[in-house]
Amino acid sequence: MSRPYVIDQMISAKSIAARIEALAHDIHAAFEGTDKLVVVGLLRGSFVFIADLVRELDLPVEVDFIEASSYGDGMESSREVRILKDLRGTIEGRDVLIVEDIVDTGHTLSHVTDYLRSRHPARLKTIALLDKPARREVDFRADWTGFEIPDAFVVGYGIDFAQRNRNLPYIGQVRFTDEA
Ligand code: 5GP
Repeated sequence: MSRPYVIDQMISAKSIAARIEALAHDIHAAFEGTDKLVVVGLLRGSFVFIADLVRELDLPVEVDFIEASSYGDGMESSREVRILKDLRGTIEGRDVLIVEDIVDTGHTLSHVTDYLRSRHPARLKTIALLDKPARREVDFRADWTGFEIPDAFVVGYGIDFAQRNRNLPYIGQVRFTDEA
């Protein structure tokens, strides 16, 4: 049986949009002159972020997706990362930007980065909308981060709780209402 919860807004849709504009500016500067940037979204949590981000990028982009195992339907990171769905296209000799929703323990993005780096892209960079540095278990930092947040379980803007709440336009924190 699922526990009752409410969602407290943590980051507004307006703040997210403003931050993405600034991030796109920095990404543009880093990849200026690229003949093609392959923007790789980590499914499924990054799908809203990648959609907004690529529309702010004035660069020739290709969009691809990769899926790695993560929380499943629970609230705990799995640590052992498996690739569930691989890229469709080739990235050898290409510029690549990996787009993730949250860096938590760091296992997922660090694993996917190593996995894609072994295919010899030209330049490979990473961006995460959210970062929870207090939860880190491996030494990993994304090249760009949208917002640093405390150790809280968040949903919205593509991010789910047991497949729900992905459609919220903001980032919110889950608060269980059966707790004292
Ligand atoms: P990591 O491997 O860094 O521990 O975990 C990264 C993945 O865990 C993220 O891509 C995301 O799917 C999931 N995750 C981490 N924190 C949260 C959270 O607060 N809420 C949700 N829904 N998923 C999270």
